[in-house]
Amino acid sequence: MKTVFELSKPGRKAYQFPECHLLAYEFDSKYLSENELELPEVDEVSLVRHYTELSNHAYGVDNGFYPLGSCTMKYNPKINEITAALPGFTNLHPLQKKRDIQGSLELMYRLQEALKQITGMGAMSLQPAAGAHGEYTGLKIIKKYHTDRGDLSRTKIIVPDSAHGTNPASSTLCGLQLVNIPSLEDGSVDLDALSAACGADTAGLMLTNPNTLGKFDKNITKISQIVHDAGGLLYYDGANMNAIMGVARPGDMGFDVVHLNLHKTFATPHGGGGPGAGPVGVCEKLASYLPSPHVTKDRSGTYSLSTPENTIGSVKAFYGNFNVLVKAYTYILVLGREGLRNASEMAVLNANYLKHLLKKYDYDKDSRCMHEFVLSMEKVHKETGVSALDIAKSMIDYGIHPPTMYFPNIVHEALMFEPTETETKETLEEVAAIIIEIIDRAYTNPEEVKNSPKAAYITRPDEVKAAREPKLKA
Ligand SMILES: *Cc1c(COP(=O)(O)O)cnc(C)c1O
Repeated sequence: MKTVFELSKPGRKAYQFPECHLLAYEFDSKYLSENELELPEVDEVSLVRHYTELSNHAYGVDNGFYPLGSCTMKYNPKINEITAALPGFTNLHPLQKKRDIQGSLELMYRLQEALKQITGMGAMSLQPAAGAHGEYTGLKIIKKYHTDRGDLSRTKIIVPDSAHGTNPASSTLCGLQLVNIPSLEDGSVDLDALSAACGADTAGLMLTNPNTLGKFDKNITKISQIVHDAGGLLYYDGANMNAIMGVARPGDMGFDVVHLNLHKTFATPHGGGGPGAGPVGVCEKLASYLPSPHVTKDRSGTYSLSTPENTIGSVKAFYGNFNVLVKAYTYILVLGREGLRNASEMAVLNANYLKHLLKKYDYDKDSRCMHEFVLSMEKVHKETGVSALDIAKSMIDYGIHPPTMYFPNIVHEALMFEPTETETKETLEEVAAIIIEIIDRAYTNPEEVKNSPKAAYITRPDEVKAAREPKLKA
């Protein structure tokens, strides 16, 4: 396929501006570029065809099954797009007078209230723009809480090795010292290792629950007791709230801070870098530390923006990614209390059904999972030379997005599937049959699997090179 620059021919254009009735303004030459801008010149139909062809090379949930574990690539109902596109929302300016934007403030306030109920927390900020950004915000709050109390020795954050990769990264970014503790075979926290790691220097614990093996940590209340007894605070990575929504709440488990990924659990399309939203919920005693501004409602029912007393400051301009908040609120209203619970139950049921259909290759054959599970291709790899990567690549030829690979790294040749709640039983059965067919082919014709995908536009890029030496322009 040609780039839009290769299609360019001087003088062609795909736009028409209305006549301008304003006076021309001459910029001082010091503000002007000396070189002409190199912009592609193409006619309208070529431009439409170009972008349509590009879009056909992209794969999304609307194209097919997308079991990327830990990412919750579920179907996002189109009604969310309709509400987020309402002109009353899209034509606002963030500096508009508060009395003119009462409706938008009310939406944010109501969303805060709904998320407080869902998580069991005392207060909620909608400002952070992503999961990792929520982690950063939450850890800042934990750090400031200790510092404000004069408890300056609390500089360490405990992160089990089954945590999501963003957890250690956010801790380091916050200037907290990382203490890694090993997990047990099922990914759950090793209580002895936790007790040994806790002390007067513990700022807190960051826990991904369900963990990256898709298991709910059954010792959750013991974990929170151990950390609290040591004077630390508890951070709940709730990016995967879609596993427990309406069934269990981090607040009830004793957690002090939690973040959610609205662009996972609450149905905003994601991938490609945004926009997202990673609201942070805190227990009552941390409410005064939330980012500013915070949406509040006074006795007369008027909504306003306030600065919490001990705020960590702003983590993003204005109120966060407002259109994502509209989508999440729509999703919550459409589903309601029962619907949200049902979504989680279906996510867990679907994962367990697919796990059952593939149990021959399961890392952890005998137990149930939450919203995702992990297969190990270690045996297949030993016997055929075909790796988890080859199998994932081969799935592309069947029109399926590969699962998460080589993660969690406590499992060899891992393939991590998250089917999500929006897939049908038939889809899960078809997918299981395809995966079994690919693994069978690894035994009969390993070369064919190793040389897949055949049908994709880009087949086997050098993934390390793409990260280390990105080539961002032609
Ligand atoms: C996705 C995810 C994150 C990070 O969220 P981003 O929005 O990508 O920053 C953090 N923790 C867990 C468990 C996740 O699944």
